[in-house]
Formats: sequence, C-alpha cells, structure tokens
Amino acid sequence: MDIGIDLGTANTLLYARGQGIVLNEPSVVAVRAGARGALAVGAEAKETIGRTPGSITAIRPLRDGVISDYEAAEEMIRHFVRKAVPGRRPRTRMVVCVPSGVTPVERRAIVHAAERAGARAVHLIEEPMAAAIGAGLPVSEPRGSMVVDIGGGTTEVAVISLGGIVTAQSLRVGGHRLDTAITDFVRKEHGLLIGERTAEDIKVAIGSAWPVPGADSFEMRTHAVRGREKVRGLPKTVDLTVKEVRAALDEPVEAIITAVRATLEDCPPELSGDVMEHGIVLTGGGALLPALDLRIASATGIPVVVADNPLDSVALGCGRCVEDFDSLERLLSAV
Ligand code: ADP
Ligand code: MG
Repeated sequence: MDIGIDLGTANTLLYARGQGIVLNEPSVVAVRAGARGALAVGAEAKETIGRTPGSITAIRPLRDGVISDYEAAEEMIRHFVRKAVPGRRPRTRMVVCVPSGVTPVERRAIVHAAERAGARAVHLIEEPMAAAIGAGLPVSEPRGSMVVDIGGGTTEVAVISLGGIVTAQSLRVGGHRLDTAITDFVRKEHGLLIGERTAEDIKVAIGSAWPVPGADSFEMRTHAVRGREKVRGLPKTVDLTVKEVRAALDEPVEAIITAVRATLEDCPPELSGDVMEHGIVLTGGGALLPALDLRIASATGIPVVVADNPLDSVALGCGRCVEDFDSLERLLSAV
C-alpha cells in the first residue's frame, strides 16, 4: 500500500494509491495535561479549539509551517494512517509533502514519524512542487511555471522548471494571519473580542481581497458577529461590512503580493518571461479568498488563475507521485 500525505498547517490529507484522497481533516491534536497519547485528533479535536477547560490543550503540530510539536505530529500521522487505511499495511511507501522551509532536523523527524506510523520507505516532496504537480503544471518541461500555495500558516511562492525549484520564498503569512488580522480589526474598531474560529468564519463568509466583479450584492453584504465587549465583558453583536473586512485583510494580502514580486525578480529572465506568458497558479485554501487572483494580477500585470479544487492540489500532487513512483522518483528527495 502506497500513501501520499499532505501534512498541512491547517489540514492534513491522505491519498491512497488506486483510491484517491481518502482522508481530509484539520491538523489538530487535543491532549490532556499529564496524560499519554491524544484525547482527540482531526475534526473532533478542532471542535475543542477555544472551548477547552484548563486541563485540555488543542495543539496544531505544524503551526507556522514548522513542526512545533513533534510528539503531536507523530500521533497525528499515526492516527490518520490507521483511520484511512485500516488493517494490515504491508510494505507501505509514503510520500510526505513538507513546507519548503523545514530544517534537516525537522525533515528527519517527519520521516521518523512516518516510519513509526508504519512506513517501510519514506520520501519527502517539497510543498510547491507537489502543489504544482497537483495543479497540472508542466513541471518537467523546460518552461518556467509559477505556483503560489497559500496555506494556513505559510504561503509558498515558487518558480519551477525541468523538475526542480528554481527560486522559492516561504513566508509565514497564510490563512491564520488573515484570521488574526480580522480579530485585531474587530477589537480595535469595534471594541469586540472574538475567537480564532469566529474570525475564520467571517473571512470565509464575507472576506475578499478586491471588489468582486459583477457581484454588487456581495459588496452590500454584512455579517453579524457575536463576541465579548472589551470594556464591560458583556456579549455584543456587531454587523461587519464587506469593505471593512477587505480593509482588515489588506496588510497580509500585500505581504503575499510582495513575495510574488520578489520571487519574480529573483528568477532568470527567460523563466519570468514564461510566467508572464502562461500566468501564475494559486493553490491552497487561501486561493479561495474572493478576488485574490484579480488583486495579484493587477499588482503584477501577470494573468492569475486559481487551481481547480485548490485545497486538494498538494494531496493530488503527492498522489501523482504515489501512482507513478518510478517515473517521478527524481522529483522526490530521499532522506
Ligand atoms: P495547509 O496546507 O496549511 O493545511 P490549506 O491549503 O488546507 O492549508 O488552507 C487552509 C486555509 O485556507 C485556512 O486558513 C482556511 O481559513 C483557508 N480557507 C479555506 N476556505 C477558504 C475560503 N473560502 N476563503 C478564504 N480562505 C479559506
Ligand atoms: Mg498545504
């Protein structure tokens, strides 16, 4: 049995050879102080965020794109593999996608965790490469392709040609930063305290990076937000507008655009010419922010498209390697 794992900061996806994506759950582990093992993993553990009593902690093992908690990461991989592929898993090979910023020590830790979860052989693939393959870019051709993967904790920007990453940037700005930008805005402008999950709900409901063309009704929308008043500590509801949320998101969105520009400036002129001609592809959950593609296109003068099912691109890229181990092995790095 061969398995591909997209170990994301927000979501972990498993791809089983011949079956496709078999698991998609939040990368969260709930643990009880002093106890061994996890109380809950994945979707069940995410439900506990912000609602845990003092003795229980909800951990994101990959916060900010680096492994912040090895034990929890290992527990999570083991749990997901067992859940998605029950029974015996003889001679399992795993392709695990890792953020390009991870250190050699962290790479080894991930390999170790995958081995403890039952892998006989573990291959790592860099996230932008997996995202590009999953989005259907011609990564092996002598042609520059640019992929921008906007995940929960990080955004990875890369130009790929001839099966290799030519230049890349990894920044610690992703969906979570967009959420905290909303939290900060609501606190400062409305004196209202809200939790991380509420901020994410606001972003998904009425967030945007730029006016959405042909959607005048979207511009007029508001979203009722419940939280706690900063001063008196009482529950309070505020109606947020689309324009307010867009303003709140401006700074992290600009940071992503700056990274795209810097990566283009870093790359050899032939390759940036290819990117100009063929465009930039957005993957990851952040690509779903309405009009982010238009905003990046307007800032760079380069056409931008969002991959089909951007939340699945990386897992599908790992999956392609799993389906076709022998011919794609050179895109993987053995550890
Ligand atoms: P990772 O690879 O780091 O696990 P994902 O690619 O799974 O991250 O993306 C998760 C991020 O995408 C989260 O921050 C989530 O809030 C964000 N996201 C998901 N859907 C949307 C949406 N419709 N609009 C904006 N952001 C979204
Ligand atoms: Mg990802």
